[in-house]
Amino acid sequence: MDRYTKIIITLGPKSSPPDILTRLIEKGVDGIRLNLAYGTRKEQMQMARRVRDVAGKVGRVVALIGDISGPKFRVGEIEEGAISLVPGENTALSIGKGPKGMKSIPVRDSSFFDFLAPGDAILLADGTIELSVEARVPEGMVCRVVVGGVLTSGKGINLPGSALKIDPLGSRGKEDLAFGVEAGLDYFSLSFVREQDDVSETKRILREEMNSDIPIIAKIERPEAVSKIEWILNAADGLMVARGDLGVETPLEEVPIIQKSLIAQARQAGKPVITATQMLRSMVEHSRPTRAEVSDVANAILDGTDAVMLSEETAVGNYPVESVEMMVKIAQSIERSWQSRPDRRQTFPSFFFGQQDAKTSGLRGEEPENHVRDAVANSVSHSAVVMAKDLNAAVIVTPTRSGLTPRLVSRYRSFVPILAMSPREETVRRLAICFGVRPVLVGEMKSLTEIVQLARESVMRENMGKRGNRVVITAGDPEKPRSAEIIKAEIL
Ligand code: PEP
Repeated sequence: MDRYTKIIITLGPKSSPPDILTRLIEKGVDGIRLNLAYGTRKEQMQMARRVRDVAGKVGRVVALIGDISGPKFRVGEIEEGAISLVPGENTALSIGKGPKGMKSIPVRDSSFFDFLAPGDAILLADGTIELSVEARVPEGMVCRVVVGGVLTSGKGINLPGSALKIDPLGSRGKEDLAFGVEAGLDYFSLSFVREQDDVSETKRILREEMNSDIPIIAKIERPEAVSKIEWILNAADGLMVARGDLGVETPLEEVPIIQKSLIAQARQAGKPVITATQMLRSMVEHSRPTRAEVSDVANAILDGTDAVMLSEETAVGNYPVESVEMMVKIAQSIERSWQSRPDRRQTFPSFFFGQQDAKTSGLRGEEPENHVRDAVANSVSHSAVVMAKDLNAAVIVTPTRSGLTPRLVSRYRSFVPILAMSPREETVRRLAICFGVRPVLVGEMKSLTEIVQLARESVMRENMGKRGNRVVITAGDPEKPRSAEIIKAEIL
């Protein structure tokens, strides 16, 4: 396995041309985020098909993640391309023409105006520009510029501290879900999740109205979500540490510890966690990142993240391919150095792992249910890792229908590569973003003998072991819809 940490990119004008997309996937992209707030449905469908097509040609498994438009408020189209906002001057947020003699910032939706009072803060462009509300006027909302900057179209608007109860599906969310089901996406990512119900309601709509089980990744960007994370993890299938909005909605200096805690808890639950935003931000304009950015990617990996994500670096940046190459290099370097420690088959450091308790995370009332309810699956995954280490096994093979066993094995970050064999294409693609998992599509397995035979063949075909190597295989009874309950050691 040449890399364990997975790389996700955001698709945009700079990464979607077929030749660039091909290079990106060849370089090692494991997941692609499609922003469902941008483009027409026809364009989005074309993009989804292109990703499948290119991934097929390159021969890599790539998960497609549809980012639901969500309730995020955004700056509209700025005709001049950009507006320069100077501290101390007044500006207006407006849908149409703003008040005469004042610079006007177009907005796409004005429903939040009613929830603002004079003195409230409005943050623009990931919190880099700050306005203070002055007064409501017929043309919009007059504000004073507190922190200035150059504002361009489409930037996000945050209202920290506002009690505005927003539906994470927003006005277009349901349509996005229907589109994603039609396009056969592998995950949805849901913005501004506040509580478990936000996720369960989205899953209910998918299940009852669209007959779909596409998993949901909860984007954690609100303080309420951080304090209710154990419940959210009960409902969600994965987490994204969405540091862009998180760093605006919570004090910036708290983000590093929140990141560590979210990663630890997602791992405990056996659900993939993605660390996102500004990882190599300077590579939008420059061919090399800053030292601090390289350290940031490295530290997310040391925290135990499953995947690191690029946003504008690949969507609109000038160096999308170089950004992915850089992530690959950082991941490989950190993983190598960890593996070459004297205790090399130890897992990654486990900051908070196993220590998080409900009292310290600010939870109240009813305790959340245990994340991993299947005691046998829990024990098999743990034992497989212990056995693989004891035997110095080359690989752990996990036949799976739902993806549960490889996810549970992966959470130990043991550096013994995991070969996940599944007869379900969607399971194979969904596992592409999980740490250390190489997912492969296989036929139906009808007996234990067939599982072992297929495991041996797949390990050899995927170049994950040599004759004489030991492998550890987890297996379930193919006749029963249960997770793995047997562990076998084999010599290739
Ligand atoms: C974030 O805020 O960090 C994030 C990932 O959300 P988006 O890029 O969709 O605004």
